[in-house]
Amino acid sequence: MYDIEELYQEIIIDHSRNPRNFGKLDTANKTAEGYNPLCGDQITLYIELKDKLINKIKFSGSGCAISKASASLMTEAINQKTESEAIIIFNNFRQMITKTTDEDYDSDILGDLEILKGVSAFPARIKCATLAWHALKSILDNNNQEISTE
Ligand code: ZN
Repeated sequence: MYDIEELYQEIIIDHSRNPRNFGKLDTANKTAEGYNPLCGDQITLYIELKDKLINKIKFSGSGCAISKASASLMTEAINQKTESEAIIIFNNFRQMITKTTDEDYDSDILGDLEILKGVSAFPARIKCATLAWHALKSILDNNNQEISTE
């Protein structure tokens, strides 16, 4: 018998213990810091942006299992995606976790990220799960600003 909840739990633990794309990225041309004072999670996100493509992405920092697993899964999901694709994934992820509107998210777009769906039932952990994503959003927003003001 396979319990889907347990499977999800195992994947989250695996990503938190062996985070993918973990470490500093020397070729990064965009970085962002994120800090979640409620839990003490800290993250630095590194992105090598080539034209509009997220060519490489890594993260470093320390935090709880949820924050690390979410950052690890995020780097896998948005690596080699364009900025506009990454924003669509961000919006769907945020919708799944925070349920701020009645609109539903798209499971096909989220893929493995849907593993983190259970976090939405624990308001105290939502900031852990979205920390890396807000760092990503600040990078993408700043980049857009630069483009529009120059
Ligand atoms: Zn946390």
